[in-house]
Amino acid sequence: MDFHLDSLLNLPNVTVFTHRQKSDHIILQLELLNDGIFCPYCQTYSDGVNQIRPILVRDLSISGQSIYLQVPRRQFYCKTCRRYSTESLVWMDMKRNYTLRYEEYIYEQVQELTIEKVSFKESLSIAAIEIILRRVRQRKAKLGKATKLKSYIQTVVSI
Ligand SMILES: [Zn+2]
Repeated sequence: MDFHLDSLLNLPNVTVFTHRQKSDHIILQLELLNDGIFCPYCQTYSDGVNQIRPILVRDLSISGQSIYLQVPRRQFYCKTCRRYSTESLVWMDMKRNYTLRYEEYIYEQVQELTIEKVSFKESLSIAAIEIILRRVRQRKAKLGKATKLKSYIQTVVSI
């Protein structure tokens, strides 16, 4: 809808359709710009949307206001292999209530403040923060392994 808002949001293939101001947060209703996806089972391009299920996902605050993205989770039907698949989005994990960058932000905040302070600042429960920390650490460990493997392969290749 709004070009400037879209570029501020900085998420790929996403446009802000509309927004709703609530008492203590803002909901940005998103639309996805790609018509279809490549089927994860057979890699055929499919634009047959079977169903759309909107979910709310917490994202980074804007000007001190909490932001929730209303994301249309789309399920596609592939005519080639006759299977259903839910679209995966690079900026969030399936079945999570936070964007990846929001989880990263919480992780960074906890390095500087106490969990209690972050909990108060972001109105998140301690338990929710602990789950976020665990997930970010797991992602970092995976990334670390991949980087080590990559540099190992490069070493072997250069020998
Ligand atoms: Zn398929």
